[in-house]
Amino acid sequence: MSEVSKVEDGQIVSLEYSLLVDGELMDSSVGHEPLEFLQGVGNIIPGLENELYGMAVGESKKVTVSAADGYGELDPDAYADVPRADFPENIPAEVGTELQVQDEHGQPMYARIDLVTDDVIRLDFNHPLAGKELNFDVKIVGLRAASAEETEHGHAHGDGHHH
Ligand code: ZN
Repeated sequence: MSEVSKVEDGQIVSLEYSLLVDGELMDSSVGHEPLEFLQGVGNIIPGLENELYGMAVGESKKVTVSAADGYGELDPDAYADVPRADFPENIPAEVGTELQVQDEHGQPMYARIDLVTDDVIRLDFNHPLAGKELNFDVKIVGLRAASAEETEHGHAHGDGHHH
């Protein structure tokens, strides 16, 4: 592997990160393996990826990503009302319950219960972080050129892990 010093397209970036939303810690790699990904192909959200260009190993940065550049704005059409009588009995009919349903093509879709009334259960299909500003603390902890195989696949290959 050739040495590389600054984040550019086509590199495998190892990133330590913490994500705060509304002041609350949502996710962090600190104390775990860093996130490893191929830069420049949209493996991570674009609003974060764009801010990493030119960073060196050991460099830290705070990155604020607007909802539009993160998980998108809340889609007012991404709700569905299910008659309570049609709702599976084995799923708790409580606001906040997360569930998986299938679309008309049999593809899994994730939803959360947004509202429960006597008659209907309203499902929210928005990503849980849609409409939210994302506040990242990031640190570049490793940088290397991607292998030909990683470039071809469009993602990073970890230790002995191939997919
Ligand atoms: Zn692969």
